[in-house]
Amino acid sequence: MSRQVSRSPAIRHKRCGPARRKGTPRRIELVAAKKIRVIGGGLAGPEAALQAARLGCEVDLYEMRPARSTEAHSTSDFAELVCSNSLKSESENTAPWLLKQEMRRAGSALLAEADASAVPAGHALAVDRVEFSRRVAERIAAEPLIRVHREEVTQLDEHDASTLTVLATGPLTSPALTSELTRLTGSSHLAFYDSISPIVDASTIDMSKVYFAARWGKGSPDYINCPMTKLEYERFVDALTAAEAVPAKDWEQIPTETLHYFEGCLPIEETARRGRDTLRFGPMKPVGLDDPKTGRWPYAVVQLRQENLRADSYNLVGFQNHLKFGEQARVLRLIPGLENATFLRYGQIHRNTYVNAPALLTETLQLRAHPSILIAGQLSGVEGYTESIASGMLAGRYAAALANCEIPVIAPRESANGSLTHYITHAESKRFQPANITFDLLPALEDELRRKIRDKKERHRIQCERALAAWDRWLAASNVLQSTT
Ligand SMILES: Cc1cc2nc3c(=O)[nH]c(=O)nc-3n(C[C@H](O)[C@H](O)[C@H](O)COP(=O)(O)OP(=O)(O)OC[C@H]3O[C@@H](n4cnc5c(N)ncnc54)[C@H](O)[C@@H]3O)c2cc1C
Repeated sequence: MSRQVSRSPAIRHKRCGPARRKGTPRRIELVAAKKIRVIGGGLAGPEAALQAARLGCEVDLYEMRPARSTEAHSTSDFAELVCSNSLKSESENTAPWLLKQEMRRAGSALLAEADASAVPAGHALAVDRVEFSRRVAERIAAEPLIRVHREEVTQLDEHDASTLTVLATGPLTSPALTSELTRLTGSSHLAFYDSISPIVDASTIDMSKVYFAARWGKGSPDYINCPMTKLEYERFVDALTAAEAVPAKDWEQIPTETLHYFEGCLPIEETARRGRDTLRFGPMKPVGLDDPKTGRWPYAVVQLRQENLRADSYNLVGFQNHLKFGEQARVLRLIPGLENATFLRYGQIHRNTYVNAPALLTETLQLRAHPSILIAGQLSGVEGYTESIASGMLAGRYAAALANCEIPVIAPRESANGSLTHYITHAESKRFQPANITFDLLPALEDELRRKIRDKKERHRIQCERALAAWDRWLAASNVLQSTT
């Protein structure tokens, strides 16, 4: 992959604000490139920092770990993936694929490192999380315009005209900064809860009871499938729904009925309570997974996805839960093949903080009331690793343009990136929920074309083609770095 980097030399000599008139005090003569402060060394923050630095801006990158950690992080690494290791589908003409393709064309630094740390995962992009973080750290260290500060930021100065701030502190933003954000936005945050999946030691899986397969034989057979009979499934559902949950912590002391779970991350015991068969139509769906022993689909299946390059650990796909660890061990060992499994990590549940983006943010991710502050990543109301990196990528570019007194050109509406930002900034603010990228967010095809093309896949292909064409035009017009693949 070759990358052409354009650092406009004009940028460095430009002046922000009106030209200085004779006799006016020197302090109103603003220096050309403002400083950029990126807060958060997770996914969105490093991407934003690297983008802005590559566009010639000086960046101070703040990360509070290891001095202070969050409920979900377990290292002090940049770009730590706190739960699954998947950056979702690589199947051509799917929405997550489109988002990633656009990011690749735009030179997303973190996506390049994800590609370089990929582990086999059928038609998904999954990464070795340690390798991924290591490579991101290496990139940051190699960028002379980025200065890293390992400290918690507790205050935001909205009146500091010399600095642009990209706030990318994620769903577990520290309490002090959350209060500061509440002061600034003047509105209370929505808070809901997210959960993480257990990881099992591969050497403790009974391989005689499980089988490798890809659903419908699509992609390479990288998933381990634990098949269940009807009886085994019934027994499992009973145990799961009766298992004891973790007691709520202080910050969780709210009535259960107001606990606000994001549907994509619903704890498995909660899904099981919604109906006897809900799991069989959700994370334990057996369709397309022929069991070589019977030649048929099992009654239900638990899928295990490879965690790292060494393939010595696997995560239980969609098995995020809020059960006590002892209870998890007991219930999960009812899964065929996992009777004697060692769990390297148990499922957990966590706070998730995000702003009411439709009410607060412009399409350039700036706070309407305080335009020197941009919000990126999960905190801005996108949901997911890739979406967070994508939003960091845009925020870094927009901040770089603003730092150089240019008006950022917003990502095109037809593109996946543009549609995601359009959604979070234009959704109904009263019912706003974070969003993954889906085709629903992209502009629909014109009526005539829709009537003509009945096949959904073909419609998606056209939407992708249109998105990529618009994205390429935007990349060329916004005079930013572009990579050619
Ligand atoms: C428990 C949990 C599980 C998740 N599982 C998945 C999943 O499996 N798949 C998926 O696609 N998405 C998942 N998500 C959603 C989301 O994709 C991730 O949270 C993702 O890491 C968000 O990226 P981010 O950069 O916005 O935030 P983070 O990656 O969380 O980065 C924010 C960084 O800011 C730092 N920070 C916080 N406050 C301060 C401060 N005051 N000063 C300095 N630094 C600060 C934090 O230490 C952290 O490093 C999960 C979220 C949670 C909470």
